[in-house]
Amino acid sequence: MRTTLLLFRNDLRIHDNEALYEASKSDRLIPVYIFDPRKYSESKYGFPRVGPHRIRFLLETIENLRKNLQDRNSDLITRMGKPEEILPELVREFEVNEVFMHAESTSEETNDERAIESALKPQNIGITKIWGSTLHHRDDVPFEQHQIPDVFTQFRKKLEKQSEVRKVISIQGDLPQCPVSEVGELPKPEDLRAMPDHFLWDDETFEAQDKSVLQFRGGEDEALARVKDYIWDGDHLKNYKKTRNGLLGTDYSSKFSPWLAVGALSARYIFAEVKKYEKERKKNSSTYWMVFELIWRDYFRFVFLKHGNALFKTEGIRETPHPIEWEKNDAHIRKWQLAETGIPFVDANMEELLNSGFMSNRGRQNAASFFSWNLRQEWRIGAAWFESLLIDYDPCSNWGNWAYNSGVGNDPRQRHFNILGQADRYDSNGDFVRHWLPEIADLPKKYIHEPHKLPKQDQQKLNFTPDADYPNPMINLEESYERIKG
Ligand SMILES: Cc1cc2nc3c(=O)[nH]c(=O)nc-3n(C[C@H](O)[C@H](O)[C@H](O)COP(=O)(O)OP(=O)(O)OC[C@H]3O[C@@H](n4cnc5c(N)ncnc54)[C@H](O)[C@@H]3O)c2cc1C
Repeated sequence: MRTTLLLFRNDLRIHDNEALYEASKSDRLIPVYIFDPRKYSESKYGFPRVGPHRIRFLLETIENLRKNLQDRNSDLITRMGKPEEILPELVREFEVNEVFMHAESTSEETNDERAIESALKPQNIGITKIWGSTLHHRDDVPFEQHQIPDVFTQFRKKLEKQSEVRKVISIQGDLPQCPVSEVGELPKPEDLRAMPDHFLWDDETFEAQDKSVLQFRGGEDEALARVKDYIWDGDHLKNYKKTRNGLLGTDYSSKFSPWLAVGALSARYIFAEVKKYEKERKKNSSTYWMVFELIWRDYFRFVFLKHGNALFKTEGIRETPHPIEWEKNDAHIRKWQLAETGIPFVDANMEELLNSGFMSNRGRQNAASFFSWNLRQEWRIGAAWFESLLIDYDPCSNWGNWAYNSGVGNDPRQRHFNILGQADRYDSNGDFVRHWLPEIADLPKKYIHEPHKLPKQDQQKLNFTPDADYPNPMINLEESYERIKG
């Protein structure tokens, strides 16, 4: 009798799951997920590494995975502790012959893999690591790992010419029987709360959650439903390239990222649906652009494989000194985190993040640019704050984009944004800002992005007092751009 164990990590799905497919070629299969308390700790910047939205989304995802495994006559064994201690026990008790898991690309996760491998070494069993998180398989990328170009376009062009996306793997019917009877209860959100006194756990902070662009719920079922809804029922894919820079509403972009991040959705599955759509409905630059963005996602993963820890360091992969000497001003950081900068376009985005765990790509670029370039705060603190809050947090996309936007990543240019120019361009009527900042919702369009400039006579008429009702800008934006120019 052959017994296998599958350790679920950021691959919390049944569809297109190669590790599950391979592990299922056995008589008995033990699917396991381990909540490792070390991941739910305090960041070195004094806030929880995993905030409330991520905890909720993950628990919903695990619950759904368990249900889907049960539907296939299996189950999900959950434990709390260190994988390198729990796995050897399960292996011993159930006489496991081989352990399967998906491989990851960032240092903390690959360290976990090494710890598991060395803990299982005395038991002399097979350990198989499978690559499965990207659109293009690691083995199909036409570059050696150390030769991944530092310019995205070079990477994309060769990849598009020389690599094909592999087919989605389908797993039919029941899974092998699971011999473990003590499946384990799912932890409660409060069991995973590091720093219970932190303001992030204050329910009042999240009362506006229903203003979110989408009521994101974790789990593979929700992921597949969202793909169907966005691509097929709503027929939005054909307009994606035109709408993707939006800020408000459910369908300006796909919102696939939270499910992709925990692996409840496979990038290859999205690709297959895009190809089907192109065949059955329409093929245009928008359908191509969805795949283009998924290649960006791949790119950051392969960049991490190449550069290892460098993108978690302050200098990133930059070879020349950064033009800004980073500061650490706790009061400034706090205002940015709490959406109290006095610059509505930044605050509305930060409020969205705080309340919903999501922010548009346009918003992320501006919020990050403001933090690193205008406020001159060390970019890693901003990245860590996003890590805590984003329900789609994924180390490569988050730290890679932050580094890129802060001038220490894969673009040596000074990529700072003109915040007011961006606000005028992408929120010209101020609808987005009004949605998230009700305190300025009644201001006329002319002052919506600069409430402190509202003339005195209008202040009385509108019953709005700058600084008392909404803060004045924490910095002089124009001066901050002058400083960047040097
Ligand atoms: C500072 C900053 C931090 C970010 N942090 C994350 C993060 O932690 N997790 C994350 O998934 N994305 C991150 N992004 C990338 C991007 O903002 C999100 O992927 C996107 O906004 C998610 O919304 P969507 O699924 O509707 O995207 P869509 O526009 O519908 O794109 C489809 C998919 O393509 C991928 N994608 C799109 N843009 C990017 C990009 N710039 N980089 C990598 N992949 C991309 C995502 O998987 C996304 O789901 C970050 C961007 C910035 C500027």
